[in-house]
Amino acid sequence: MLIVHSPAHHGHAYDVEIQHGQAVPALEVPARAQAIHDALVATGRHTLTPPGTHGMAPLEAVHDAAMLRYLETCWTDWVASGRTTPIVPETVLLHTYRDGMGEVREPRTPAGRIGYWCFDTESPIVEGTWQATREAADIALTAASAVLEGAVAAYGLCRPPGHHAARRMFGGYCYVNNAAIVAAWLVGQGAGRVGILDVDFHHGNGTQQLFWERADVPYASLHGDPDRVYPYFSGHADERGGGAGTGFTLNVPLPAGTSDDGYLRELARAVDWLDSRTDDIIVVSLGIDTYERDQLGDLALTTEGYRRCGELVAHSGRRLVVLQEGGYFVPALGDNVVAWLDGVESVAGAGA
Ligand SMILES: [Zn+2]
Repeated sequence: MLIVHSPAHHGHAYDVEIQHGQAVPALEVPARAQAIHDALVATGRHTLTPPGTHGMAPLEAVHDAAMLRYLETCWTDWVASGRTTPIVPETVLLHTYRDGMGEVREPRTPAGRIGYWCFDTESPIVEGTWQATREAADIALTAASAVLEGAVAAYGLCRPPGHHAARRMFGGYCYVNNAAIVAAWLVGQGAGRVGILDVDFHHGNGTQQLFWERADVPYASLHGDPDRVYPYFSGHADERGGGAGTGFTLNVPLPAGTSDDGYLRELARAVDWLDSRTDDIIVVSLGIDTYERDQLGDLALTTEGYRRCGELVAHSGRRLVVLQEGGYFVPALGDNVVAWLDGVESVAGAGA
């Protein structure tokens, strides 16, 4: 299978993040993507290729241009203001901030700007963040191009991940939404209705928001119940899309401890739902934080379970653009991604 990868993500690295009010060692680390890379190389069966460049237009098609400009320039501004620590918000803009008093303007000072765009304390920005973010989007678009040109499946080793990034808001380790960029781009290239299957442990609030009112990009997500876990504000079963997109969002919140068999039953239902609303290509947001030992998840999938998941999704007969999202138990991350892709190839063929 074609694997798209770049070492640029190594520049996006920081030591700590703030979780539940505590500074904890960072979990979204370069070692994650390195472990996946090494495991894929070790199989001797995959072709690794660097991304091509696709420019800013596909990013601007889903994100506010001002947010992209912020991400591109914020580090320079931060350093010019005398700081060299990772950028983390001290204030975060709430929708209630100016209740009845009109829109809030983007602040001018670097310490204020970050809270205008970022919604949490777990997504620091450092010197290499923008380059890694751009490269991750190019990785996703390069994988999508290969599928558009005829490949049955391709995998983009994206880091940072993307599914929490919305039109004008980022967070959850995500700065731009790789899966959404790709889905919108594929629609623009004439691929018909393009489905997104999000199997990360966390609800993809950004992806849901971006396609909430669209019927041409149906979105199905299986995730830990937001009544229990991050991102808390979205992913309930009664969120089904709005306007022209009513009925084109499917949320499947799962109870803690869900293991392979229970998960696969729900996955089969989600794939069927998506299959009937998709013309040809499905974009998979592949999170591996559903693993039984993941620090951020409380589900109980196994490595063999991931192989079965890949197989089940490939049985849809849809062509697949598989993009890496979360997954934080580094020792098993590589084996689990390999298992998922093996499951795809066992159905689609080694030439996938
Ligand atoms: Zn996740």
